[in-house]
Amino acid sequence: MNQELWNQMHCKDLLKEVSNGKEVVWINADLENAQNALSKIELTMKDIDDAEERLARFAPFILKIFPETKNENGLIESPLAEIEKMKQQLEAEYATTIPGRLFLKQDSHLAISGSIKARGGIYEVLKHAEDLALAHGMVKETDDYSVFASEEFKNFFSQFKIQVGSTGNLGMSIGIMSAALGFHVIVHMSADAKQWKKDLLRKRGADVIEYNDDYSKAVEVGRKNSDADPTSYFVDDENSSTLFLGYAVAAKRIKKQFEEQGIVIDAEHPLFVYIPCGVGGAPGGVAFGLKQLFGDNVHVFFVEPTQAPCMLVGMASGLQNKVCVQDFGLSGQTHADGLAVGRASGFVGGVMTHLLSGIFTLEDYHIYDLMRDIVNSEGIFLEPSACASFWGPIQLMKEQSARAYIEKMGLLHKMPNAIHVPWATGGSLVPQEIREEYMHTYLK
Ligand SMILES: *Cc1c(COP(=O)(O)O)cnc(C)c1O
Repeated sequence: MNQELWNQMHCKDLLKEVSNGKEVVWINADLENAQNALSKIELTMKDIDDAEERLARFAPFILKIFPETKNENGLIESPLAEIEKMKQQLEAEYATTIPGRLFLKQDSHLAISGSIKARGGIYEVLKHAEDLALAHGMVKETDDYSVFASEEFKNFFSQFKIQVGSTGNLGMSIGIMSAALGFHVIVHMSADAKQWKKDLLRKRGADVIEYNDDYSKAVEVGRKNSDADPTSYFVDDENSSTLFLGYAVAAKRIKKQFEEQGIVIDAEHPLFVYIPCGVGGAPGGVAFGLKQLFGDNVHVFFVEPTQAPCMLVGMASGLQNKVCVQDFGLSGQTHADGLAVGRASGFVGGVMTHLLSGIFTLEDYHIYDLMRDIVNSEGIFLEPSACASFWGPIQLMKEQSARAYIEKMGLLHKMPNAIHVPWATGGSLVPQEIREEYMHTYLK
């Protein structure tokens, strides 16, 4: 570690634990009340509403080419379900209590690409397609967007490229939707990316370029190639406010689901949301939307692997994307491929500074145990990255500093009314033989 960097860091004691590969809980001392925090951020509720409206304009197109979205009328949305048996399983297995009710937000089952990236990734491709079509006078915002499925539009988009760097799921979302619109799409995949994801993408018509290196390298080369080509658009996972807003729309959707299911979120009924974090865009966008809608009644925590806690080292040190996990002697490698990121987005870290409640880290073997727990208790399969989310509710009442947060926020007596939502970020597209392999990984 560079001494000068180390001298500038906050939370040195905790970061020492982190660099020893220990599981930690970081509670954000810079958390502010939601209104203050949100007033410092350039993006607003209006931007989220705008993204939601754009997705609504594209619904007729999506319905036409992805008929699996029929039940949602062309919107890409996932179930919210109570998981009482999983709650009992976790309480027994981890000797803890999870006061209140436990729900699962199943972005694992989002249509088209089976992960949370179906929110931001697909949204950004649609926005780019709309920008091009508007600029070339091919549509008006008031038109029926099912015309985007026509041969004429496909031919038009075939002159343009879209490129992205990915550990897997973002590439799948961008690749599938770009190819469906007719774009020439190139996905730069890091070494962590699973073979089946590359195979599936190629089958859908995307070009996949493989790197023997980590995610940052795939992004770097992808960006460079794209910038050199005027017909090419680069989806920038590290800096894109478009992706971020696509994710943020999730908050409006889950609010509606709470209302439909008669679940009240207010000062007496606090909401706790736990989201696995890689570069930060997906969990950050969802968190931003949730804080806009639920303010101080929602408490958002991220979860990261002990070997790739990039958002934790960035936020806890205060140095954001000036530091990466390798600076702390960590490998950046984890079985949770969606979370295998060494350096977090500086943009997202900045937005989260006063909004995020904290971050939990866990070792990889827990992730597989949690995966078996959700399969065995509820019959729901999730990919390893997604299962990190369950670590939050397990640790919240158990771990000293998390418990201190509950007390400091005056929530202790409200906890019997709490609603906990681990955000299941992916899984439904994982092939059967890989699921079986996962079920036997790290088995004691
Ligand atoms: C991408 C991904 C995440 C994290 O999203 P980031 O935007 O990289 O932070 C979490 N889980 C899964 C399954 C993912 O694919």
